[in-house]
Amino acid sequence: MIDFHCHIDLFPNPYEVARGCRERQAHVLSVTTTPSAWKGTSELGGGTVLTALGLHPQIAHERKSELHLFDRILPNSAYVGEVGLDGASEFKRYWNDQVDVFQHILEACEQFGGRIMSIHSRRASTPVLDVLEAHPGAGLPILHWFSGTPRELHRAVELGCWFSVGPAMLASKRGRDLAKRMPQARVLTESDGPFARIGGKPILPWEVGAAVRGLAECWESDSTSVDRILNENLANLLAQSSNINRST
Ligand code: MN
Repeated sequence: MIDFHCHIDLFPNPYEVARGCRERQAHVLSVTTTPSAWKGTSELGGGTVLTALGLHPQIAHERKSELHLFDRILPNSAYVGEVGLDGASEFKRYWNDQVDVFQHILEACEQFGGRIMSIHSRRASTPVLDVLEAHPGAGLPILHWFSGTPRELHRAVELGCWFSVGPAMLASKRGRDLAKRMPQARVLTESDGPFARIGGKPILPWEVGAAVRGLAECWESDSTSVDRILNENLANLLAQSSNINRST
């Protein structure tokens, strides 16, 4: 079971959610939205629960003062996220702050030899890919809940991006059409809980099985085969993350 993008610290009961992940041996990337949340959130981690250092684009304008903290923590974190850009109208007016923060983060990742990065690109696929292309040494980008065009997807694949796909994304035809075009060897599942919901309730990390079933449909396969592919992908990714760490 793999949930490579969730916000354990934002559930009302983060300790129970973290314990539930470990009990089920779920491989989880617990992303953060601010550098100041990293310490407490990483204390929830351990075992199969990894923690990523992030600064969410939707609050980049409020939290850019925490970039110095980001830089201080980065040597201790192999994983970065949630970071990226958000082009939706309510965040567009902070666009320059978003770009400054995202560029700063990618430069820092380059400086430390690269990181595994969980990336937000809502309504900003092309600008995100532009910034990634300009920072080839920043590490391995995983585009979470990708919602670009097929052409942008193709460009992302060319740039070496991976994708994390959740039940919420697969609920739409557009999301399923993208999942069909993704290289299967570069896909992981995610919940994006508690933001993403199924049936009005936040998705828990161990409810990603719905995404495995959705991918099986998209790929005209079955859940057992898809599970095997996803586990191989995770093993490849974790092997790459240890290379990344050694080069720092
Ligand atoms: Mn998220």
